[in-house]
Amino acid sequence: MAKQLLGKEVVAALNERIIAKAEALKANGVTPTLGIVRVGENESDLSYERGATKRCEKLGVEYKKYLLPADATQEQVLAVIDEVNKDDSIHGVLLFRPLPKHLNQDEIEQALDPAKDVDCMTNGSMAGVFTGKDLGYPPCTPQACMEILDHYGIDCTGKKAVVVGRSLVVGKPAAMMLIKKNATVTVCHTRTVDMPSVVKEADIVIVAAGRAGVVDDSYVRAGQVIIDVGINVNAEGKLCGDVAYDKVEPIVDAITPVPGGVGSVTTSVLIGHVVDAAEKAAARR
Ligand code: NAD
Repeated sequence: MAKQLLGKEVVAALNERIIAKAEALKANGVTPTLGIVRVGENESDLSYERGATKRCEKLGVEYKKYLLPADATQEQVLAVIDEVNKDDSIHGVLLFRPLPKHLNQDEIEQALDPAKDVDCMTNGSMAGVFTGKDLGYPPCTPQACMEILDHYGIDCTGKKAVVVGRSLVVGKPAAMMLIKKNATVTVCHTRTVDMPSVVKEADIVIVAAGRAGVVDDSYVRAGQVIIDVGINVNAEGKLCGDVAYDKVEPIVDAITPVPGGVGSVTTSVLIGHVVDAAEKAAARR
């Protein structure tokens, strides 16, 4: 039986560190604050917003909502981004995406000050991930994967790591982060030939394909650590990952469950970025 890498254990440790930092900032007269920008009333945005605001309250981080109607114009959304950029009391910004189709999302994303880009939507933040320079903030989901590896003391140095998926939000930055941890990294995608053999070679596997159960028992072997980023809904309406958990778990050494794995860590990583941004802003005062 594999060791379960549980999000709640990682979250508990992360939260403790975030609370301590937030308290220290408040003692110095700085209240770390997240600006939440939402256009419309999309149910998945509302659900993520509830999770984020609850986590803010738990960790001693303030939040301020900027709500726009679903038919808001490009100018209205850009005006809100300009407002949060100029407001020194807002340290980080969460903008729900995708934005309604009539908006130019890229222009809106790039308008945010990278110093407040706690959810990695600007080119500046992404450049930080790829260059190693201290620019913006890395994307929360792949960072949550790294937090899990760190928390459980899984050393990546010299290990073979495979990332399944090459999206800009998860797969590619996860590969960069694993390289930074001195792993030897291979990235698989839809055109990869004989993926089971490639994945079987790895010591550490991060799966972010967006396809339920794409990694099954034919892809894995004893000794592996499997991090499952996928969030899918199966035929019975239940949440499931990209890994066929019931088939893979009996074979490998360690695995994250879905739900209860990566997803739960992501929100704390986001709030951690807000506190880090507030620390940097306080240092510039
Ligand atoms: P995406 O659709 O943008 O990218 C998926 C990538 O996987 C693509 O590069 C594609 O080439 C590759 N891929 C697809 N099918 C494949 C296959 N059969 N074999 C090999 N590669 C394949 O998705 P994304 O935004 O990177 O998200 C990936 C998954 O992670 C989704 O299930 C998503 O819901 C989930 N997700 C979770 C969190 C979290 O907080 N846990 C956050 C973001 C995304």
